[in-house]
Amino acid sequence: MGRRDTYTDPRLLASVDISAGNHLQPFCASQILNHFGRCHSSPPSRVLGCPQEAYGAVVYLQKILSDSTSTTSIIISKARVMLLKGLTIPRAELTAAYTLAKLLHYCSELLDINSMTAWTDSSIVLCWLRKSPASLNTFVGNRVKRIQELIPNAKWSHVPSASNPADMLSRGVSAKSLLDSELWWKGPPWLKLPQSEWPPPQFSLPDVIPEVKTVTLSAIPEPQEKPWDKFSKFNHMIRILSWCRRFLHNTRLAPSERSRSSTIKAPEYKETFERLISMEQRESYPQAFQALKKNKSLPKGHVLGKYKISLGDRGILLVSTRIRDPVSPSHGTSIIPLPIQSGLTRLLLSSLHERHLHPGTNTLLAIVKDKYHIPGLRNYLKGLSRRCIKCQRAYQTRNDSAHGSSPSSPDHAISSILAHRSGLRWPLHHQTRVH
Ligand SMILES: [Zn+2]
Repeated sequence: MGRRDTYTDPRLLASVDISAGNHLQPFCASQILNHFGRCHSSPPSRVLGCPQEAYGAVVYLQKILSDSTSTTSIIISKARVMLLKGLTIPRAELTAAYTLAKLLHYCSELLDINSMTAWTDSSIVLCWLRKSPASLNTFVGNRVKRIQELIPNAKWSHVPSASNPADMLSRGVSAKSLLDSELWWKGPPWLKLPQSEWPPPQFSLPDVIPEVKTVTLSAIPEPQEKPWDKFSKFNHMIRILSWCRRFLHNTRLAPSERSRSSTIKAPEYKETFERLISMEQRESYPQAFQALKKNKSLPKGHVLGKYKISLGDRGILLVSTRIRDPVSPSHGTSIIPLPIQSGLTRLLLSSLHERHLHPGTNTLLAIVKDKYHIPGLRNYLKGLSRRCIKCQRAYQTRNDSAHGSSPSSPDHAISSILAHRSGLRWPLHHQTRVH
């Protein structure tokens, strides 16, 4: 029967007695309240031919009598026309579940209900209701949250479409069929049975649950601690790492071939230092190594982009300068690029500063530039002198002599120079003069 014919016989509908008062008023009597059983309801399911046009929910009351028998009857239902266009079927089913929750909440405020079970024939809606609203998209999450707030104690279950009386709300039914429908007025036959005898829900959960927010996880590796992070002195670092390298090397050799020298030799120091430089360069200039490997030029804006780069011994990156090599003047000189932010570079510069007896900024700049290309070097060396205690003592001594009496003897002048170069102070100079 078509939808148009469904509502063309109002005389039949006039004989239907479904007023709320006939059902609700007797149940509100206090002497019956203790005999209330369960309140059941079912939202509609979608059927082919009338998709997404209407939805609704119906609530049944199960009353357990004193002789342990029970009766069921419809107490309220609600059907709505689907006004939102483009609503997906799961969303429409969730809207029906929301309508059901509002009806059950309304009934629970009027009646003293012992337990409440809500049914839907949508497995997706059941999945959504078991999830946190925050993990769902806005439309679904808001409705799931509202449902959970309205009927927090309700148990949700699955009902097959064939046993779902609310199916008639969305599908449409003739007045005559409605009058004769036992399913509509009493609910499914098994509803009268004790809860333990209800048929178990038979449905399969969907593999992919729609409308779930996508959570993006990104793994960020922890910065690996570098060897130079453990040392404050360059020489200590090179010596200790050289011993470690020798130990590892010896473990791979036969006992007769192992190095048993009590001191680290110069080639071992050099090899350790070059290994550290290579390690730092591969960390700081990965694009340069890739460019060399693929025989391409560095991208524009790279810190070494305006230099000609090459690979030296032991895999050390080199940049060519315009300074002529005194040994072979036809060739330029290749020097080692290092980043100024590197802990290795800073240990190296501090070591050079001390090894060359605390020279001025320009002197140390010339020494370093002879072998290394370090952008931002001048500013760092200025700060290095300011942080060096020996340099500051020498600077203070020089100021004292400039504002006090002039050195009266050549010894005094020589001592002043020595103090400036070595960091020794004037009292030691006076002691020297007494002897
Ligand atoms: Zn210094």
